[in-house]
Amino acid sequence: MFSQVWKPLIYLHPLVSQVRMATIWGSLLQDEQQLESLAQQAVDRALAEGVLLRTKQQPSSSDVVNYAPFTLFPSLVPSALLEQAYAVQMDFNLLVDAVSQNCAFLEQTLSSTIKRDNFTARLFDIYKQVLKEGIAQTVFLGLNRSDYMFQRNADGSPALKQIEINTISASFGGLASRTPDVHRHVLNVLSKTKEAVKILSNNPSKGMALGIAKAWELYGSANALVLLIAQEKERNIFDQRAIENELLARNIHVIRRRFEDVSEKGSLDQDRRLFMDGQEIAVVYFRDGYMPSQYSLQNWEARLLVERSCAVKCPDIATQLAGTKKVQQELSREGMLELLLPGQPEAVARLRATFAGLYSLDMGEEGDQAIAEALTAPNRFVLKPQREGGGNNLYGEEMVQALERLKDSEERASYILMEKIEPEPFGNCLLRPGSPVRVVQCISELGIFGVYVRQGKTLVMNKYVGHLLRTKAIEDADGGVAAGVAVLDNPYPV
Ligand code: ADP
Ligand code: MG
Repeated sequence: MFSQVWKPLIYLHPLVSQVRMATIWGSLLQDEQQLESLAQQAVDRALAEGVLLRTKQQPSSSDVVNYAPFTLFPSLVPSALLEQAYAVQMDFNLLVDAVSQNCAFLEQTLSSTIKRDNFTARLFDIYKQVLKEGIAQTVFLGLNRSDYMFQRNADGSPALKQIEINTISASFGGLASRTPDVHRHVLNVLSKTKEAVKILSNNPSKGMALGIAKAWELYGSANALVLLIAQEKERNIFDQRAIENELLARNIHVIRRRFEDVSEKGSLDQDRRLFMDGQEIAVVYFRDGYMPSQYSLQNWEARLLVERSCAVKCPDIATQLAGTKKVQQELSREGMLELLLPGQPEAVARLRATFAGLYSLDMGEEGDQAIAEALTAPNRFVLKPQREGGGNNLYGEEMVQALERLKDSEERASYILMEKIEPEPFGNCLLRPGSPVRVVQCISELGIFGVYVRQGKTLVMNKYVGHLLRTKAIEDADGGVAAGVAVLDNPYPV
């Protein structure tokens, strides 16, 4: 009898704590006048801390800047999930590195995709050319960010589910180091000093710079530079500068160039050392080159030149391919992780625990079945092409229309289908220049930054270096901070 009374109570416990979690700032969210004044103080602090973006109107100049959008309050994240995400990051580093070295796996996994997706095909083409010539690069550097959402289980408890891993241009490691002080400030203004102390310090850009510095050192040429490839129109420059500044503090010099500059002034010597404006390059760090629109014919040639060189590329072309959505989907197939990480059952279990449902849409029975299921229950799935940068995925009615159009065509192989993650929404204010302060229902996405360096076959660095929390209104299905949908946030561990 006693235990019968207790069982349901224990069963309900996660749900009860969820509700409490979601409303810890609840009373504050109701006082509109206070929110306005708090928002003003938060924005001024954000500007003072350097939480900045260039403006849409002047993306090539820092003459006029504004604050990068952020939440007024830090959002609650269960400590256990934060810990889980950190604990699996080194496994993800190993996995990405293993995939990038497994030519047979990449070739087989991407074979159907490259027939239908021109962008992946071009990347793959460069990969094959480099393999054919022989890889000159001996030091490898990975700077990645694995992103998660908190799936609400049937019993109300949250579970960590990976959305994707970014192996190229993983951003906001710089600005994420500046936002903790903004949220501490907000809580201190409210005399919530105990709460303010709970905001975690965070400095991903420092850890990323340490990875670049290690790769630079192993390259072994004291006068060589780091080449940061970016566009001239770059709103997120302060995020990139944070890494540049950390490198300069270690006496490592960075030059910023566009693909166009590389194509005009880049060259290889007979040892395939890369030179830019006559200066040797030790490390090439890409903050460009992950979307089709970023490549003209000239830019593709520049990318090939860089890939053929012995400079450390971050990422090299194989590691970029390892970050495609098709690879993510194939990794979730039974036995794949075991194959790629032999003798590491614990790492495999930690990785697999974060996988959501992922389905191939290749021609054949398996793909047919996935399409049939998505058409029956469209709200449970997301359709994803091989694209990065947000705004490309299809949901709901749009997904249904696309699937109807694609289902008898080989073009469907350029997409994957993914289980849709449904987190528990909560209230927060999203502060954006020019927008009124109001409370909206939100969901968050947690990213963990990982860094690894490999010299030949020896892994010389493998670590996690910080986190990024991004939050968006529930009605915005897709997209990140750069796409103007999500805003910067901090986890408030509970
Ligand atoms: P991109 O490479 O364009 O960033 P993502 O896979 O990260 O592609 O998807 C973009 C955004 O779409 C994510 O930040 C997330 O908000 C949303 N999203 C992606 N996959 C899912 C999913 N399975 N369930 C719910 N939302 C998703
Ligand atoms: Mg993403």
